[in-house]
Parts: sequence; structure tokens; C-alpha cells
Amino acid sequence: MTDEVCSHIDAITDVKLATRRVCEECVKIGSSWVHLRTCQTCDETLCCDSSPNRHATRHARATAHPVIASAEPGERWLYCYPDDAFAEY
Ligand SMILES: [Zn+2]
Ligand SMILES: [Zn+2]
Ligand SMILES: [Zn+2]
Repeated sequence: MTDEVCSHIDAITDVKLATRRVCEECVKIGSSWVHLRTCQTCDETLCCDSSPNRHATRHARATAHPVIASAEPGERWLYCYPDDAFAEY
């Protein structure tokens, strides 16, 4: 893990990866998404800010779960909402 990013990202030792490559909230409402992100607190995979519903950001605001990981193949990074911090892993 990269050093001195933020305490939330530093606390992550095992990155949670998407178990199903779908946005669980978009599936419920029959919508579509652009990219997927996985919440590192509860393992939920949701859609990014380029997607019409921005479920990952809405989830982070609603739950105060701070860190998401990209669920896109080949992308290995984490993002912390409260600190606006990025880290590759
Ligand atoms: Zn943080
Ligand atoms: Zn979504
Ligand atoms: Zn969560």
C-alpha cells in the first residue's frame, strides 16, 4: 500500500473485490451504469460518478463508508471520500 494516503486507506489490508460485476442498485431499478466501484466497508458493488445514478457516491454519503475500490478489470486503486484521496495498490 502507498504510504501516508489517509487513515482509512491505510487501514485496508485486503482489498475487497466485486463478487458480481453489476451495480446492485441499478439492477433493482432497471438502470445501467458506466463503471463499477466496490465499497470497502460492506463489499457492495455500485456505479461510478460517470453513471446516471452515481450509486457509489450516494452510498458513501448515506452510510459514511469512506473507501471504494475500482471494480474495473486492470484498475487497482482505492478512493477515500472524506479525504478525497487516491491510492494505487
Ligand atoms: Zn480517508
Ligand atoms: Zn448504480
Ligand atoms: Zn458500504
